[in-house]
Order: sequence, then C-alpha cells, then structure tokens
Amino acid sequence: MAERKENVVMFPFMAQGHLIPFLALAVQIEQRRGYTVTIVNTPLNITKLRSSLPPNTTIRFLELPFCSADHGLPPDSENTDVLPYPLIVRLMEATLSLEPSFKRLISDITHQQQGYPPLCIIADMFFGWTIDIAKEFGIFHTVFNAGSAYGMGIYYCLWLHLPHCKTNSDEFSLPDFPQVSKIHRSQLSNHLKIADGTDSWSIFLQKALPQWLHSDGLLLNTVEDLDRTGLQYYFRRKSCRPVWPIGPTDSFMTRARPGKEACLEWLDIHPPASVIYISFGSQNTVSASQMMELAMALEASNKNFIWVVRPPLGFDINSEFRAVEWLPDGFEDRMSKCKRGLLVRKWAPQLEILSHESTGAFLSHCGWNSVLESLSNGVPIIGWPIAAEQFYNAKLLDEEIGVCVEVARGNGCEVRHVEIASVIEMVMDENGKGGDMRKKACEIKEMIKDAIREDDEGYKGSSVKAMDEFFNAALSWRKTKRNDKV
Ligand code: UDP
Repeated sequence: MAERKENVVMFPFMAQGHLIPFLALAVQIEQRRGYTVTIVNTPLNITKLRSSLPPNTTIRFLELPFCSADHGLPPDSENTDVLPYPLIVRLMEATLSLEPSFKRLISDITHQQQGYPPLCIIADMFFGWTIDIAKEFGIFHTVFNAGSAYGMGIYYCLWLHLPHCKTNSDEFSLPDFPQVSKIHRSQLSNHLKIADGTDSWSIFLQKALPQWLHSDGLLLNTVEDLDRTGLQYYFRRKSCRPVWPIGPTDSFMTRARPGKEACLEWLDIHPPASVIYISFGSQNTVSASQMMELAMALEASNKNFIWVVRPPLGFDINSEFRAVEWLPDGFEDRMSKCKRGLLVRKWAPQLEILSHESTGAFLSHCGWNSVLESLSNGVPIIGWPIAAEQFYNAKLLDEEIGVCVEVARGNGCEVRHVEIASVIEMVMDENGKGGDMRKKACEIKEMIKDAIREDDEGYKGSSVKAMDEFFNAALSWRKTKRNDKV
C-alpha cells in the first residue's frame, strides 16, 4: 500500500501581512518537507492566494463560508486591505463565527482519510480558538507568527498589561519582559495609544493572545542568534510551550513583478552601495507633510534613491499617485533627469533591489519581512516604523543589533527635512556609524545564511534544526495518540 502523505492544515488571518507569510511557509513545507499542505480561508482570500502561488506547487485550498455583510461589514471585505482601520477589529471579531465551519472542515478531512486526522494545524495568532478543535480531534496544534520574537513579545506584553495606562510618564517598563529597556509613548501604535482595556481592540486581543500558551508550540519567522532577547520572553513564561525559530521563510512575492527590469537597469548605472531604497511596506503610508519633507531631504542629501510612492494618509492608498500635488514642484522631473532618483508607483521588486550591489541602505517601516530581506542582503536600515510591532523591530535593530538608526516614528509626527537629510548622510557615509552599521549588517547576512544552511555532510543551521524539531514533535505526538487508541 502506498505510504499516506501527512496533511498539514494552515489557517491564516485575513490580512496581507498574515496571508503572505503563511503562503511562504506552506510552499516551504510542501517543497522541502514533502507534506500535503491545505490552506483554509474565505473564498475571496483563496482566490488571491491562488494567484500568488509560484509554479510547481500543489498546495490545496479549502473554503470556509463567510459573508462580511452578515457581520455588518461592507460587502467583500474579507481582508483587512480593503477595510478602513476602525473596522479591522470587527473582522477579527467576525472570525469567531468561523468555528463551526472550521470544525466541520477538519472532520471532513479526517473522514476522507479513513479517520486519519491531519498531522497538525498551524493557525494564526488570532485563531487560538482552533486549539480546542485540534484537541478534540487529537491533532497537534501550533501558532505561526511571522514577526520577530522581540517585536511580538513587546506587542503581547503591551496589549496584555496596558502599562502605559498606569502611568503619566512618557516612558514605562514592561511588567513581564525585563530584558528590554523602557518603551516610549511615541512607540505605541495608534490603537494602543487610545486603548484602556474597555475598547474593542483590548477586549479582543486580551482574550486571543494568551490562548497561544495552550497551543503545543509556537513557530516564529525569525533566526535564533538574531533574536535571543525576544526568545527569552517566551522561554520565561511559566506554561511555556516549545518555540521554534524557523526563519527566514522563503520570500517569493517580489519575483517576476512588472517593473523589475526598469529598477534593475537603473541600479546598474549607479556605483556600489550608493542608492537608498525607500518603502513603507505593503499597507502603510506617511502623511502628506511627511512625504513633502522626505522628498526635500532626499534632494538636499544629494544621494541616489529608489522610492516606492503611494498616496499619503487620508487618500485611497490604491489610487493614482499625484506627484504634482504631494511632492515639491518639479521634483520627479529633476530627480529623473539627473538619474538621482527613481519613483516607483505602488509596488517595487523589493528582493531584487535589496540584493543589488548598488543598494546601500533601506529606509523602511521595519515590517519584519522587510527587515529580514534587508539583513539577508547585508543592507543597513534607516527606521521609520509606522504601526503595530514595527516600533519594537526598530528598537531591536537599533539597541540590540546595531544595524538601524531611527529617523521618525508613526505617520502623525512632525518631521523636518534637515534632520532626515542628516540621518541619511550619516548612514550612507562609509566612515563612522554608517560604515559600522554596514559591517554589522554583513555579519548578520552571514548569520542568516548559516541558519538556513543544510549540506551533504549533515550540517544543519539553527532554523533547519528548529523545523526538524517541530515536525518531530508533531510526528511523535501523532504516534502517542495512535498508541492511545490501540
Ligand atoms: N514588498 C514588495 N514591494 C513593495 C512593498 C513591499 O515586494 O513595494 C514586499 C516586501 O518584499 C515584503 C512584504 O512586501 O516581503 C512586506 O512585508 P513587511 O513585513 O515588511 O511589511 P507589511 O507590508 O506586512 O507591513
């Protein structure tokens, strides 16, 4: 009889920053480990995921019925990308209604496999309620989080304890994460700033986040040696489950995007390490006045740049970019004529840009994927965190690793072009701090390379070993469960 292929069920939250890392992990599990992978989600998100799949994958998709209108959400708003910010928490709450259909789906998969349940369920950090279903079917359960251990540890801590509500001071410590220095109010996302424990975000997150402690473990898209302080947060917790730092998972989203050649040709004509790449990730943007100051800083600094531009805060992020309105007079023409700067609308081939030798620094919102992509290429970071745990990623990179200087925080603060220009100059200068940052970033590049290395002599880097340990834990759990039944 042919050997049964184990089935891994994955269930991400409906936001780009969750769906894409889950898809990347799914591809890795299927292609490198040979398991059958099933991604569960709502119909609209499955359509999007299917279109992002690289060739030669056989990942299965299963739909959970979901009607946004039933939850008082606008039609077709099953993804945070199309939702205004205040409604995102409503989508989070609405996902609780998926419990019966998720249970049915697990039951169907088990039934189709003659009573043999999936090997494991890898669920989103917001879907702790799937743990009870996994337990009922005797399935190994893990939470996958695509952030850093350090960033997510601080994020958890802040939401669970709301320490900033208990003090008038601008700086405060974290009650159960003593390894990190104080947090400043400017490092709180807009939601956290107004949270008081009775708002919808606090209510949802204070219930959902602690649930991961009841899971059988936590998979993190991070690298052990890079993120030791953060990992201690999880190891210290009393009912601690195993934590597997398995990153970085393959990033394939930027390959074969239109506009790739234009960017690469532009980079080809510039000297090594002379270009600053600027991007605020897939969902964030800055305010109109910040955008204007950033443009003035770039012009004043006399450095080369590629800037992924999107309409500023308050405008539809997917609408046309109006350079005439949002940038200094004649800026784009001037920059383009002297080949000083290239503006890319909406989306750039980020991986290719970061791996090009002409790229010397990344002005980034410090989303964790961007951070890993930058450091995997030895590129230091100018941090401008905007939301969520990005502030703490920047803190990690600056205080613990020494590959980042922060230039601003959030999209509500006032920034001045003179100050931005001086940070740019400092980071792009090979002598002094800029040179030190680049050297450190190159060391981290080697550290990351080593973590994911596996060779014929049996060497395995820390992330490969962590992935082995995760699957071994799931397989031995399966064995115990089946022995129990005999
Ligand atoms: N990305 C890209 N081109 C862009 C903007 C983003 O390829 O113009 C990709 C980037 O390579 C990364 C992801 O989108 O893999 C952004 O993830 P990150 O965690 O950095 O930030 P988020 O978008 O989730 O805030």
